[in-house]
Amino acid sequence: MKAIRVLRKVKADEQWQLLPVAKTGERFDWNYVMLRGERLPAGAGAFYLEYREGGRKVRRLVGATPREVQAAMTSQAQVLELRDRGVEVEDAPEIHTRRPVEGKSIAEVVRSFEAHPPAKLRPKSIAKYNFDLEQFEAWARRQGITHLCQLNRETICSFLSYLVREEDLAMKSAVNKSVIVLKLVRDAGATIVMKKGDWPRVTSMRPEIYTPQQLAPLFAGTNRTEFALYQTFLMTGFRDQEIGYAARSDFNAADGLMSVTKKPGCSFDPKTYRERTVEIPPELVTILKDHVARMEEDQELLFPTSGGKRDKHMLRKLKRLALRQGLNCGKCESMHEGKPASCRTAPICRRWTLHKFRHTYATTLLRDGWDVVTVQHMLGHSKLESTLVYVQGLPSEERRRKMASGTLLRKLLFRRGNPARAIPGPPARDQASARAAGSPRGRRPLRPGTDRRGPAASWRGRPLRARYGTALRVRPRS
Ligand SMILES: [Zn+2]
Repeated sequence: MKAIRVLRKVKADEQWQLLPVAKTGERFDWNYVMLRGERLPAGAGAFYLEYREGGRKVRRLVGATPREVQAAMTSQAQVLELRDRGVEVEDAPEIHTRRPVEGKSIAEVVRSFEAHPPAKLRPKSIAKYNFDLEQFEAWARRQGITHLCQLNRETICSFLSYLVREEDLAMKSAVNKSVIVLKLVRDAGATIVMKKGDWPRVTSMRPEIYTPQQLAPLFAGTNRTEFALYQTFLMTGFRDQEIGYAARSDFNAADGLMSVTKKPGCSFDPKTYRERTVEIPPELVTILKDHVARMEEDQELLFPTSGGKRDKHMLRKLKRLALRQGLNCGKCESMHEGKPASCRTAPICRRWTLHKFRHTYATTLLRDGWDVVTVQHMLGHSKLESTLVYVQGLPSEERRRKMASGTLLRKLLFRRGNPARAIPGPPARDQASARAAGSPRGRRPLRPGTDRRGPAASWRGRPLRARYGTALRVRPRS
């Protein structure tokens, strides 16, 4: 077969040129062309075939889509072969239509999403989807891709790699963003078939939590309201919106309960559309009682702005507090008030986030032996999967101690020799030595038939207080 090259009309170096379509191995990368050995985004120009016939170079316009090009290549190869054998064949008629790209443009998709966002999405999600779609539109336009019909799985994959390489996004966020974009353009009518393995596996990171050494000095610098606020974050594990909209009526002092409820009249819906009520530790009941006693009579929200509205700046306030207390890591750099700044001098440290209180809460419950299904309810997770992320949170030190003192795996210990005498009992030295060395969490081993776990026992028991004792005992500046 004679060599046939595929060219594409591309504006490069300020002029229209015919450049060879890029290839990976034998496969064409339709959205790229080669110029001086470099891959360039191709835009939406037409395709040409180039071959030699009778000693001269021939170029034929063959269409605007890969499918047309492939069909033209096959038939042109047959034509050339027949002519080689002396058969007279006419060329297929050249395609003279420079067809414009058809259908909806990506910009239109962005506009229509903005104008009619799906009713099931929450306002926060709408804003995020919108942002992601706009970012995709801008990126695609720079690649010369403007219409839905030009999108394919390569487009989505190169968007993903652009996010990671040039936007410096973590793989997890990049995949997230690309999946959202893919869903939105598919909903708008693009047909894109992804292949198995297109999405890189994302390592789930162990959620970061605060240490008592970080929290004690933080709480030491709070005023009474901040103390109540961040202590509520830490001891309920509620999301920032859930705390922002928490009302006086959501706090049940008599039973030690706190609820997340739908608030008619404002746009807040509990995230999973399920209201929930959880137990809170008695220490927090005391703190909140004191807080409520200081609230204005007609104030409905527990932690409102001075105007009685939902406070949207809790995070900003936390970052300021951390800076004031000298608790920033000193390494973060980003923009602050329009200027580049360092977290040494500006409230921009990434170490301090509201969600990290929630991570700390969840991890602490699990380390205290709460079962994962109960913790799922406490956190208001609709999927157990989300809660399981915290299960990896046990540090190796704790695993080592569990392994050293647990008896479960010892049941798998067998002996060599006469099987009749080889049934293993609990190793004799175990209980005594565990008591001497301190069993897990420094407590005596359980007597058979007792259960130290369970919500009531844990809250009243020592572990949580022991862990956060420093934070709790600190008195606020009043
Ligand atoms: Zn920092």
